[in-house]
Amino acid sequence: MFKAELIESKARLRSAADDPTRNLSACPALVLNADYTPLSYYPLSLWPWQTAIKAVFLDRVTIVESYEREVHSPNLDMAVPSVIALKQYVKHSEFPAFTRFNLFLRDRFACQYCGSPDTLTFDHVIPRRLGGKTTWENIATACAPCNMKKGGRTPKQAHMTLQSAPIRPTSWQLQQYGKSFPPNHLHETWRDWLYWDIELEA
Ligand SMILES: [Zn+2]
Repeated sequence: MFKAELIESKARLRSAADDPTRNLSACPALVLNADYTPLSYYPLSLWPWQTAIKAVFLDRVTIVESYEREVHSPNLDMAVPSVIALKQYVKHSEFPAFTRFNLFLRDRFACQYCGSPDTLTFDHVIPRRLGGKTTWENIATACAPCNMKKGGRTPKQAHMTLQSAPIRPTSWQLQQYGKSFPPNHLHETWRDWLYWDIELEA
């Protein structure tokens, strides 16, 4: 009897904690482009529920799927959108911005010398003192120990090999890499719009 009660109360607690409909802040909308592909895979394009609803009223998005949770105002009851699609197609620029995040993403968040995912830094492949520039083609992700070991030398001088030559990626390439990093939480209504290639392999 006691055990049954315990199990029941645990189950209640768990469902309360897991149930996103209890907490609006846990109800972001997945944002799709006008072609119904995600605007961005990584970070996944998510808008807070307020932004999503505002966009609905501004007629900028179509509601594709909704949470069971509703929001109420004097004039309106509305299900919180879980997937929305932009009405106007956003064209990605061909090349992504040269940012720390995009550089790590190009290198899959791994040291390009040893593959470690820890203590990542940026390495000037040709050191600055030898005229190396801060560009896509001359910066590689390196863990702190490898960066330290390499010091102010070229990879050849340091007898270290880059796993891949640093290149300027296209936006399409970065999007593809981003698919390898699905977020921890995926609402069930998002699954149809994401990672179908991964789902098929499962
Ligand atoms: Zn390393």
